[in-house]
Amino acid sequence: MTQHTLSECPVCGNNTFLSHEVLWPELVSSWQLCEHEVNYINRQQGFHCSSCHNNLRSMGLASAIKKEFSFTGTLDEFCKNTSRVSILEINRAGNLTSFLNKSQAHRLIEYPEFDMENLDIPSGSFDLVIHSDTLEHVPNPKRGLSECRRVLKENGACIFTVPIIVDRFTRSRSGLPPSYHGQSGVLANDQLVHTEFGADAWLTPIKAGFSSCEVYVFEYPAAIVLIARK
Ligand SMILES: [Zn+2]
Repeated sequence: MTQHTLSECPVCGNNTFLSHEVLWPELVSSWQLCEHEVNYINRQQGFHCSSCHNNLRSMGLASAIKKEFSFTGTLDEFCKNTSRVSILEINRAGNLTSFLNKSQAHRLIEYPEFDMENLDIPSGSFDLVIHSDTLEHVPNPKRGLSECRRVLKENGACIFTVPIIVDRFTRSRSGLPPSYHGQSGVLANDQLVHTEFGADAWLTPIKAGFSSCEVYVFEYPAAIVLIARK
């Protein structure tokens, strides 16, 4: 596995990290993960900054946001200093919310008050839409992304993560036994997995109408972020 040595948390600038295992046997079995895949998903979800507690996937998302706006400081500094960028956060993106809140132009919306497939938000409202490990729980992910696109301004971008198994193709879990994320033994309906994303994850934003989708690699294969541009 390619693992770079992370020198600094892109969210808060701290330089010490911790890790713990996140996956449990039932999820590994329903997801049909091999050992190598278990290892990188555990790293994606369990390797985290010891200060702000954002995991590798959230750090990847923060890094992609900074890149999109050519910002060289931390996400913390970006949010404090860049109120010109209006940000819609759909469901809490890991521990990024408290940092995003520092931006004057940040709005958080959450399920079930807001449904990604039918956003009660005017078209063309935001420069940036972000979500993290939410799309796999949306019954119609293409419809969800098409709504994200609609609420973006003309040059806006939707930057998001989904867990991607890089050596297989995307599959719907329709017709398969229910599989849940979240934590072992908790069968919360909003944690039900509808789609398991694979190497063709970039296709869903394209089919939803985005003009491009960049596959941004913070760390391969544990931290991949999609940047879909309107
Ligand atoms: Zn941090």
